[in-house]
Amino acid sequence: MSFDTLGLAPELLRATKEAGYAQPTPVQAKSIPLALTGKDLLVQARTGSGKTAAFLLPALQQLSFNLRRRDHGAHILILTPTRELAQQIGTMATQLGSHLNGLKVATLVGGMPYRPQQRMLSRRVDIIVATPGRLLDHVRSGLADLSRVKTLVLDEADRMLDMGFIDDIETVVSKIPKERQTFFFSATLDRRIARLAGDMLQDPAHLNIEPPKQQHAQIKQRIHYADNPGHKRQLLAHVLSDDQINQAIIFTSTKRGAADLAQELADEGYRTGALHGDMNQQQRTRTVRALQEGRIRMLVATDVAARGLDVSTISHAINFDLPKQPEDYIHRIGRTGRAGRKGTAITFAEQRERHQVRRIEQTLGHTIAITEIEGLEPTPVRERTKPRRSPRPGAGATAGKPRKPYTDAHAKRPARKSHKSATAGSRAGAPSGARRSAASAGKSRPGQRTHQRSSARA
Ligand code: AMP
Repeated sequence: MSFDTLGLAPELLRATKEAGYAQPTPVQAKSIPLALTGKDLLVQARTGSGKTAAFLLPALQQLSFNLRRRDHGAHILILTPTRELAQQIGTMATQLGSHLNGLKVATLVGGMPYRPQQRMLSRRVDIIVATPGRLLDHVRSGLADLSRVKTLVLDEADRMLDMGFIDDIETVVSKIPKERQTFFFSATLDRRIARLAGDMLQDPAHLNIEPPKQQHAQIKQRIHYADNPGHKRQLLAHVLSDDQINQAIIFTSTKRGAADLAQELADEGYRTGALHGDMNQQQRTRTVRALQEGRIRMLVATDVAARGLDVSTISHAINFDLPKQPEDYIHRIGRTGRAGRKGTAITFAEQRERHQVRRIEQTLGHTIAITEIEGLEPTPVRERTKPRRSPRPGAGATAGKPRKPYTDAHAKRPARKSHKSATAGSRAGAPSGARRSAASAGKSRPGQRTHQRSSARA
């Protein structure tokens, strides 16, 4: 299928060609013709599916009629959960609308100075892309006029609800004319989302682009179990030595963890950046730009980067810590395998976190292959539960390199020290303990069933 068959105006077709879009993605092919009929849409689509252009193109088409009639005003309002996502949508709106007469896009996000946003709002604005809180500030100060909005987009609605924006969203929507077209996009659809959608949409067409089970086919996923944070740090050192990594995003659960790990990796000579909520928006924007320009190879981030970040050169998403919500796993790994490329998602989990992994697998609708690295195997969980060590469907060997051993001595030290002393110990060739002896002899310790596990020995 080609874009030419979707009913889009020539100015927009030209922009899609210039953006390098050869053919519509499934979400675009299904949404755009329906949207052009004026229908409200409720779309379940994952990040990376091309959903942004799926709502921007029909919204811009409607806007182009108004621009031709010199009917100016903020006709499109797009609400998004994060600043990064807002900025990316703003950039894409400018790109896809580049042949519409002097299109003006205002991106209004928190964490940025008010003054430039106020200046933007005091001039002509056709599209507002905003996070809900900052938009409300501008509405309350009388600067943002929402009375002319004709197209409302709620992007990543599930995330906005998770982030507690429900009241702000409802207040914003109460200021918008009821006579409008609404596009409601969400990666997941539970009862809360359905309720919000029910309030905002009129007789919508409901599109579920990809059922969860088929998602992320382009991303190879695997999981490594670890005994403790020090062990995870060892696994990370192994994983990062893979020269297949073009750029990686490494997720931690805390801002402090992200800053510390970024510092450690920088000390080890990686071109590293950090992205977390303690950074101001300018720092965050600078970091994202450095990533896009390839000046950063390893980005250590909290979940602020789990959504919206669209850098097609990210080859690996690594969960150093598990996400708090299973849905966030999907968003995190969606940072790789973008724009039709292949990606790899690697997750580290401590043995005590197996139940969290199961929740993630339930959300995904499939299991994640467990992989072990020779010399870095987790300590077997002894006879506590029966099927613990049985192979899981989908488990398979992944390519890895034999590495310096992980010893029990390392496990007792805190993460940073543990890594450094482990490295030093390995370099000095001072293996210790039964594990090392077994590994060097190429034997299994009693109770280990290495033949049932995938290892990086191959
Ligand atoms: P999104 O899901 O909107 O975040 O889009 C993910 C990426 O896919 C972005 O880098 C888009 O520029 C890119 N993209 C969107 N539509 C197409 C298309 N039809 N062909 C190729 N790439 C696309």
